[in-house]
Amino acid sequence: MTAVTGAEVIATERLVLRPLREEHAQEMAGVLSDPELYAFTGGEPPAPQALRSRYERWAAGSPDPAVSWCNWVVESRDDSRLTGTVQATLTRQDDGRYVAEIAWVVGTAWQGRGFAKEATRGLLTWLRRQPVTEVVAHIHPQHGASAAVATSAGLTPTDRWHDGEVRWQRTVRTAQLDELRSRRPMDLEAYEARTRQGPCFVCAFVAGDPEYVHEPVFEDEDHVAFLDRCPTLPSKVIVAPKQHIEHLVRDLDEAAYLRLMTVVRRVALAVEDVLAPERTYLLSLGSRQGNAHLHWHIAGLPEGVPYGQQQYHALMTENGVLAPTPQEAADMGARLREAVAGR
Ligand SMILES: [Zn+2]
Repeated sequence: MTAVTGAEVIATERLVLRPLREEHAQEMAGVLSDPELYAFTGGEPPAPQALRSRYERWAAGSPDPAVSWCNWVVESRDDSRLTGTVQATLTRQDDGRYVAEIAWVVGTAWQGRGFAKEATRGLLTWLRRQPVTEVVAHIHPQHGASAAVATSAGLTPTDRWHDGEVRWQRTVRTAQLDELRSRRPMDLEAYEARTRQGPCFVCAFVAGDPEYVHEPVFEDEDHVAFLDRCPTLPSKVIVAPKQHIEHLVRDLDEAAYLRLMTVVRRVALAVEDVLAPERTYLLSLGSRQGNAHLHWHIAGLPEGVPYGQQQYHALMTENGVLAPTPQEAADMGARLREAVAGR
């Protein structure tokens, strides 16, 4: 049976998540002292001694061998002060896999800086290295800030409730891996004929040609991003300038090149937020003989793909393509648009 690692140090851009110990109780009692923190969850600020007992219990671990308690304090790198906690309660299922219930709290003085989002995203990165297949959070329906944090960590609300709170969840690994296993052969001859003899697919999309409809992900004055209709990797996104430009290196001045790359980076970060890939591949290919319009591929490689099937293997249409349904594409488009807007 695969075991779960206990809490380990997790470093993010501005934060360090450290395994919680009873010694943290004194400082944390101050962080958690604002009664407003309990508006949605109930309860009241803990006394330092009570918090110390609680942390001691948590650090000792769950008495149930099927359950692992993983708790961290969230330390600001700037001043080494504690700003809150995150936790994951991992419960082994009958099939040997784990469901992780996550929760977080950031002290009032540190709110509004995106610390909760950054800490939970760090936590999600760590959870993806564990045998966890599902991440769950329970959030009060009026707690907008918590909903934003959960969204940022890739969770979506369900219609299930628990003690007056909505269950949010996200599937880890398996959904994307299963999707990848469903790759089917592509009609390469028809595809080549279309790319070489049909209209420019980007210009046709920008012009609203009904034959070239794609699910949009982002648009500004000069750029578009949309979901690839026959992606080699799940939810692959294409970013292109609206203008019919062909040569990435020669046809853009430095300012226009950097603007394009800023869009590519922003969309790629949104892809990371939503899909949590092991790697995010960026490629600009195309040919003067077909697919000439400059475009970037943003392709997230799902966690868990065997090494021999990563990189070029994963990107070649010769190895099959995915066929998301219009509803799946619409759902993914909505999630990505929201993630881009949040970046
Ligand atoms: Zn074009």
